[in-house]
Amino acid sequence: MSAERPLVLLVEDEPAQREILRYNLRSEGYDVSMAENGDDAIVLVDEMGPDLILLDWMLPGVSGIEICRRVKSKRATAHIPVIMLSARSDEMDRVRGLETGADDYLTKPFSVQELMARIRTQLRRTRPATVGQALEFDDIVLDGETHRVSRGGAPIKLGPTEFRLLSTFMEKPGRVWSREQLLDRVWGRDVYVDTRTVDVHVGRLRKALCQHGGADPVRTVRGTGYALG
Ligand code: CA
Repeated sequence: MSAERPLVLLVEDEPAQREILRYNLRSEGYDVSMAENGDDAIVLVDEMGPDLILLDWMLPGVSGIEICRRVKSKRATAHIPVIMLSARSDEMDRVRGLETGADDYLTKPFSVQELMARIRTQLRRTRPATVGQALEFDDIVLDGETHRVSRGGAPIKLGPTEFRLLSTFMEKPGRVWSREQLLDRVWGRDVYVDTRTVDVHVGRLRKALCQHGGADPVRTVRGTGYALG
C-alpha cells in the first residue's frame, strides 16, 4: 500500500456508521484503521501514528472527549488533527469539544461530502502533498497533483520512492527524520525494509536534485537521519 495515502483512524462504536465512513474514506483514497472503543483507539494512536483521527463523542468506556484530551496532551501525538463527531448538537458541547483541543467538530447527521471537505482542510495543513498542494523549498517545486518536480525551473525526473521521500521532506523542511520514521512514511507501515535502503534512496534523490547543479539540499544528521535544509 502506498504510504502517500494518509492514514485515518476512525473511532466509532456503531457498526453501520463505521462501515459507511470506512467505505467513503477508502473511496477518497485514504487508508483506514478502525477502533470500536476508546481503549483500542488509544493503543492504535500510539501504534499507527495516524494522519488524522475521526472521533465519535459517545463511545463505550473511555469517551471521545477523553481520547481527544489525551491525544492533544501528548507531545508525540498533539499534532494529529482530530475531528469530533457527535449526535449532540448542543452549543455547549461544541464548545467543550473544541476546548479539549479538537481541530473540528461535526454534528450527526452530517453529509459525507461535508465531512470529506473538512478532512481535506485539515490534511492540507498537515500533509499538503497528499491532497494535491504544490510545495516549495528554495528553488525546488513539487506538485502533489501532477507528481512533477522542478528545480530552478528545470524538470527533475524522480522514481516513485524518491518522489515520496522528497514530498515527506518538503512537508516539513528542517525537521530531522530518523531512518525508521522515513521507512514508515515512505515505504509504508506494514513493509519490512532494511534501514540501509533509506540511505540508498536518499542518495538517488540527492543525485537527481543536483543533476543541473546547485547545492545538495538534503542534510545528513549524524547518528539520527536526514533533514531538508
Ligand atoms: Ca457512538
